[in-house]
Amino acid sequence: MKFGGTSVADAERLRRAAQRIVAKREAGNRVVAVLSARGRTTDFLIAEAQEISPNPDPREMDMLLSTGERQSCALCAMAINDLGHRAISLTGSQAGIVTDTSHTKARIVEVRADRIHDALDEDSIVLVAGFQGVSTTKDVTTLGRGGSDTTAVALAAAIGADICEIYTDVAGVFSADPRIVPGARKLPVVSFEEMLEMSASGAGVLQLRSVEYARNHGVRIHCRSSFEDGPGTVVVGEEETVEQPLITAVTHSTEEARVTLKGVPDTPGAAGRIATVLAEGNVNIDMIIQNEPVTEGDRADMSFTVPRSDLGDARAALAPLAAELGIEVHTDEAMGKVSIVGAGMRSHPGVAAKVFSTLGDEEINIEMISTSPIKISCVIAGDRVPGAVQALHAAFALSGSETIQAEKPFGRFT
Ligand code: ASP
Ligand code: MG
Repeated sequence: MKFGGTSVADAERLRRAAQRIVAKREAGNRVVAVLSARGRTTDFLIAEAQEISPNPDPREMDMLLSTGERQSCALCAMAINDLGHRAISLTGSQAGIVTDTSHTKARIVEVRADRIHDALDEDSIVLVAGFQGVSTTKDVTTLGRGGSDTTAVALAAAIGADICEIYTDVAGVFSADPRIVPGARKLPVVSFEEMLEMSASGAGVLQLRSVEYARNHGVRIHCRSSFEDGPGTVVVGEEETVEQPLITAVTHSTEEARVTLKGVPDTPGAAGRIATVLAEGNVNIDMIIQNEPVTEGDRADMSFTVPRSDLGDARAALAPLAAELGIEVHTDEAMGKVSIVGAGMRSHPGVAAKVFSTLGDEEINIEMISTSPIKISCVIAGDRVPGAVQALHAAFALSGSETIQAEKPFGRFT
């Protein structure tokens, strides 16, 4: 069981989470629970660091940020003990979560769960601080924002759990953000492949890495509300999904920035060098477009998007190379992205046409496009994102019973 920050934000909610954990135990299960930092604790800790230092040392940042999750676990253990059960809280390190050494974005390399097994064998409920581990060089690390989801999935895989339940402040995974589309539908089942595309394109409900990890290790995720009972959304392998809608969801992000490089030398190796400096600067690049010059010998233009929070790093990483190669760097900070995701589009023509004409009818200009077999993404102006999400959700009738089903395997979309 994993509880997100809002689910443990105040004393009453934390007690309610403790009661849910105890109820699971009393139903005859052995329970490991992963907790996030309470409310906006992580944001406050980041702000505190920035007040002290404009560019905090990443190692020390991890020492600081990892405390939020520890607080939640210690407090929850107290609450569970008061309910007459035995609970033990563990840091990520104590729980055996071993990561690589990239501070603030570490990846789990191994889980040594023997201490968890011992505690379970002693009949304890085990509470593990999410979002953190210990590096191969014995430093405390954190797993990137939203990383408690990945802690939960990794532990579920390591101990062979029946299910990884992610308790959150929404009732499951929806066909669009309900704050933008009030009629959005809660999806009973989503495949790993679709969920990966959704998390990668802005659905905040599950951290992308947690879905990757779940797919690679075959961990069943049940994403559900911590405030109400009833089923949420189950994320499973595609072979287990019974219906295959043409389009499953519309996702969006308003946190994008675009970098345009003008005058890239049109020679083999230029793109490789650009991508390499960005990778070394730990910048995640998303959509990439390169235009070959029309006339031989001219220079090329290259654009790509990055999370807005990575824009400063991107600029810094590119500066020396841009100076060396005579490239001009332009940036747009207020970009957004809207995507449609659906396993059914694999075998159905016409989806892209419908997406582009829907945006065209709304007078929304598409600035960049990228696709995968089950996703189409368009970069648009940040302030047009809500309108684009509403229009696409309506165009593909995602609100409910009238959802267009793709006939497996080769139906035709009309
Ligand atoms: N507390 C961390 C964050 O806010 C990790 C998490 O909640 O999953 O990103
Ligand atoms: Mg989260």
